Amino acid sequence: MMLKNKAAIVTGAGQGIGKGIALALAKEGCKVTASDLNESNAKTTAAEIAKAGGKSLAVGCDVSKKKEVDNLVTKALAEFGKLDILVNNAGIFPFKPFLEMTEAGWDKVLDVNLKSIFLCSQAAAKAMPAGGKIISISSIASFVGFEGLTHYCASKGGINALVRAMALELAPKKINVNAVAPGAIDTPGAQAAFNEKAAKQTIAAIPWGRMGLPQDIANAVVFLASDQADYITGQTIIVDGGWTLR
Ligand code: NAP
Repeated sequence: MMLKNKAAIVTGAGQGIGKGIALALAKEGCKVTASDLNESNAKTTAAEIAKAGGKSLAVGCDVSKKKEVDNLVTKALAEFGKLDILVNNAGIFPFKPFLEMTEAGWDKVLDVNLKSIFLCSQAAAKAMPAGGKIISISSIASFVGFEGLTHYCASKGGINALVRAMALELAPKKINVNAVAPGAIDTPGAQAAFNEKAAKQTIAAIPWGRMGLPQDIANAVVFLASDQADYITGQTIIVDGGWTLR
C-alpha cells in the first residue's frame, strides 16, 4: 500500500471525483477525512471506507468559509493526530452566458473554486510535516475556453497559477504542491450539467473514445500523494483522454 498510515483530507468527498479520490486513498492505506458541503453524503463516503476496513472521519464543511475550513483541519488533526495530504477537490460549474453573469454569480464560483484553495491549503500547510502533499483539482478549462463558463475558466486558471506560487513558498518546508486537470469525467455534477446530446458531442471530441471516471483522476492523485512524487512540484497534470491534444 502506497500510503500506509498517511492522513488525508479530501474536500467535496460526498460524490463524484472527490468520493473516488477518498475511496482510492483509503484503499492505499490512508486515513481519510471525507469532507463535503453535504454532510450526509460525506458520512456515506466515510461509512464505505469503514466498511472496507479503512479509517475515516466525515466532516461537513463549506470550503469557501474560513471558519469552517479551520474547523475541518482541527477536527482531522484531532482524529488522526497529523495531516500529510490535502486534496482540494470541491468545486462548482454553473453554466451562465458571460453577458448575463451577475456579480454574485461570479463571486460564488471564485469563492468556492479558488478562494477555497487558498483557505484550505494555508490551514493544512501550517499543520503538515515535511513530505506533505497538497493536490488541487483544476480542469482542462484552465487551458482552453468553454462557453458559459467564463467564471469557472478563470477560477481554474487561477488554481494553476496559485499552485505554482504556493509550490515555491512551500518548497523549503518540503511540501509538494500540484494540481490535476481533468477532462470530462462522468460524475453526478457533470450529468446534471450535460444533456444527452452534449454528452455524445463530448465523447466524440475525446481521442480515448469515452468520458473519464472518478478512478482515472484518483489514480493521478494517489501518485501525486505518494513519496514517488517527491521531486514533482508546482505542476498541473492533465488527465483528459487526449481531449486537449487537438
Ligand atoms: P460534483 O459531482 O458536483 O461533486 C462536487 C461535490 O462538491 C459535491 O458533493 C458538492 O456538494 C461539493 N461542494 C459544492 N460546493 C461546495 C462547497 N462550497 N464546499 C464543500 N463542498 C462543496 O462534481 P465533480 O464533477 O465530482 O467535480 C469535482 C471537482 O472536479 C470540481 O472541482 C470540478 O470543477 C472538477 N472537474 C470536474 C470535471 C467533470 O467533468 N466532472 C472536469 C474538470 C474538473 P453538494 O452536492 O452539496 O453541492
